[in-house]
Amino acid sequence: MHSQVVVLGGGPGGYAAAFLAADLGLEVAIVEADPRLGGTCLLRGCIPSKALLHTAKVISEAQDLAEWGVEFQPPKIDVDKVRGRKDEIIATLSGGLGKLADARKVKKIHARGVFVDSGTLNLEPVEGGASTFGDERLTFDHCILATGSVPAMPKFLDIGSPRVVSSNGALAMPDIPESLLVVGGGYIGLEMGTVYSELGSKVTVVELSDGLLPGADRDLVRPLAKRIKERFAGVLLSHKVTGLKDVGEKVEVSIEGPELTDTVKFDRVLVAIGRWPVSKGFGLENTKVTVNERGFVETDEQQRTSDPKIFAIGDVAGDPMLAHKAAAEGRVAAEVIAGQPSAFDARAIPAVVFTDPEIAWAGLTAEEAKRDGIKVDIATYPWQASGRALANGRTDGLTKWLVDPETERVLGCGIVGYGAGELIAEAVLAIEMGCNVHDIASSIHPHPTLSETVAFASEVQLGTATEIYKPKRK
Ligand code: FAD
Repeated sequence: MHSQVVVLGGGPGGYAAAFLAADLGLEVAIVEADPRLGGTCLLRGCIPSKALLHTAKVISEAQDLAEWGVEFQPPKIDVDKVRGRKDEIIATLSGGLGKLADARKVKKIHARGVFVDSGTLNLEPVEGGASTFGDERLTFDHCILATGSVPAMPKFLDIGSPRVVSSNGALAMPDIPESLLVVGGGYIGLEMGTVYSELGSKVTVVELSDGLLPGADRDLVRPLAKRIKERFAGVLLSHKVTGLKDVGEKVEVSIEGPELTDTVKFDRVLVAIGRWPVSKGFGLENTKVTVNERGFVETDEQQRTSDPKIFAIGDVAGDPMLAHKAAAEGRVAAEVIAGQPSAFDARAIPAVVFTDPEIAWAGLTAEEAKRDGIKVDIATYPWQASGRALANGRTDGLTKWLVDPETERVLGCGIVGYGAGELIAEAVLAIEMGCNVHDIASSIHPHPTLSETVAFASEVQLGTATEIYKPKRK
């Protein structure tokens, strides 16, 4: 079998690349080990986690209403239905992707692809799958490597117990454990911790560094850390898990740190300490592709690897490991293969933590500015001054712009608060378009909305914000 373009991996990077390559007139095949298209994001990541987070959000909002004189009974959770709704969403979307592939005449090959050389994949039959392909050779003119990533599970935590799970196991949600330990205070741990906490588990988070969401702007993390402290059973910062032992109904966890050095029992342990790129075990060494010391495939801005026939995109091609970055890189690879002068040159790749409150940022961060000695003005608008935030009962937020003091161009934006993940899109556009603070301040935003905080923060920079009074120096 031969195809002009072969995409290895059918996640958000892979299918975006395959579909665009087909739209650009190329003959395309996707090789995917899972019977469904969608990859981590759709099957075990973004979408199922957001389906569960939506349920969690409605529960916590209903509870918050008690303060406003409206009380509901505690929720009765039918875990099979909660899980069922999430599984239906996955089935609808992955079914839709299959149909879109067929409509574009993209050949779906359900098999494990293993490189024989720079122009050939061996199609290995997949365990338990109804593969129609097995031990067959597939040659190509170009291959787009989109093999993604898997949960990091170091040996000392991988004790082979069904009570110790990765995000895959947590999303499968067989039940709601009475107590859950989340190892790792990154976005996946906090999102899943939020889900289980709202569904009734007593959730404790252990984080090695001295703050949640290491690397994120502390001003943004603060309101989230406060709410998590109120709603979770415990947050142990600067603590490490040194060992796990399945003791029948529970897992005995050895924890070491300034507040606690002991063994504690939990019903379930979620290990969420990062993700590993999938760059081993499928013959990459038989090509000219180079992999760096962290396991990421090295690419240039056109997504070309050091093998002239092979491109790489998405999680396997480096940070940030996010679905929209994978899709954007996939589209670049498809365009370059189709002969277009395309390159990945995004100024702002947004990142969103879908906790409660949400945290979102785009472009330059305060940490990066500090680290790289980039001079910036920082203009912050606290949500206590927003009528809409007050009306929502959620003033635990802020919107900040990082502004170039010389040109007044916006370089970065950070938002924490209800719906921050939706609000950040405006900042992405502004940064990409090279807007300055005047452009944003003079664009009329609808009242009363949280989107106004984006404009008001730019007015803070100009010293003209209506709701913020700053007496002028004499
Ligand atoms: P993947 O989606 O990982 O897909 C790779 C595919 O390649 C897989 O389907 C795999 O089966 C296949 N494959 C691998 N090797 C082979 C082989 N040899 N042969 C055949 N097939 C192979 N990102 C966001 O942007 N927003 C979010 O809200 C978000 N939430 C997340 C929540 C969780 C719990 C997790 C785990 C991740 C989340 N992510 C989120 C990250 C997002 O899922 C990834 O960044 C994204 O899926 C990467 O896409 P990809 O195409 O590079 O690879």
